[in-house]
Amino acid sequence: MVKKGADSAAERLVRGSLKNFTPYQPILPPEEGETVAGRIVKLDGNENVYGCSPRVREALQSFGSYHVYPDPEQKALRRALQEYTGLDASHIVAGAGSDELIDLSLRLVLEPGDRVIDCIPTFGMYSFSTQVCGGEIVQVRRTAEHDVDVEAVLNAEDDRTKVIFIASPNNPTGTLTSRDDVLKLLDTGALVIVDEAYYEFCGVTVADLVPQRDNLVVLRTFSKWAGLAAMRIGYGLFPREIAERLMTIKPPYLNSAAEIAALESLKDVDYLMGTVRALVEERERLFVMLSNILYLDPVPSEANFILCGVIQRDASMIQQELRGKGVFIRHFDTPLLRNSLRISVGKPEDTDAVVWELRTWEEMSNEA
Ligand code: PMP
Repeated sequence: MVKKGADSAAERLVRGSLKNFTPYQPILPPEEGETVAGRIVKLDGNENVYGCSPRVREALQSFGSYHVYPDPEQKALRRALQEYTGLDASHIVAGAGSDELIDLSLRLVLEPGDRVIDCIPTFGMYSFSTQVCGGEIVQVRRTAEHDVDVEAVLNAEDDRTKVIFIASPNNPTGTLTSRDDVLKLLDTGALVIVDEAYYEFCGVTVADLVPQRDNLVVLRTFSKWAGLAAMRIGYGLFPREIAERLMTIKPPYLNSAAEIAALESLKDVDYLMGTVRALVEERERLFVMLSNILYLDPVPSEANFILCGVIQRDASMIQQELRGKGVFIRHFDTPLLRNSLRISVGKPEDTDAVVWELRTWEEMSNEA
């Protein structure tokens, strides 16, 4: 029993390791008044600007069982994902976005003080969830070309390492990790979690290795290719025994609306992949246009966004200025990603709008 004293309940009861916890920095939705220019060009969340399949809206309108708890075993969705992924349903677990599956995977394996390797710069939820779960994050820098530094990861790995996270393509760099590199990491025996949130934009996967390896997890999501970011639905491909154990610790239900939306998306893959193809084509056009802007140094990407180093300009100032004009992009200024911008790929008119605004900074100095 924690003794009552002058301290507040929060002060007495919250875990010590979480008292000064730095929260995850999510993107903020546009606020009222930010549409000054009468438009929103939202290129900061790596969402699918074409939206979800029209079948999703129709199915949700006609669904009559919102008052009934859904199937705790997710049978219909796991079956549909079996067809989509080619892996048996016994390897598949769906959750509230990949975010929940990151958290659940860590809860399943981490004891306090266990280590998790994070190949930075990368997606922030790996270190966030590790810390919430009481694990210790070990950061290994990527190479100058933004590749996973496999040698450095192998050197950092020790008998307290339980998990190695690899986002492929990586957010925010857009770079892939090769199958050979994943195989080398699997040999450590740690749980290797390959996050393929942007798989559909590149078609490169290690999912086929999951049934052969007892320590490989592949995470996927409907947030990007299927335009369902607000629904919160993703899935993981797990070694069978880990999938079974994960199901025993997972809170029982998916949100029915999200489950229906995912099922309808899987019935409309051709339509959705048409939007993905349009975005991939647009990514290449955006890359060329960004390369032609003198102060930007864009990184070739296999995902639906492009990271740009900013030279002799203030990236934060540019991001703020564009926001005021209704154009939303992401800004990074961390020790490994100084003065950088990440621009999600949109429709051709979105590319034109963001490039137009960025060009105005060619003539301006930081002080302008
Ligand atoms: N993994 C990566 C690499 C991501 O970039 C994101 C979203 N920004 C996620 C996972 C989270 O996806 P979800 O919406 O399915 O939680």
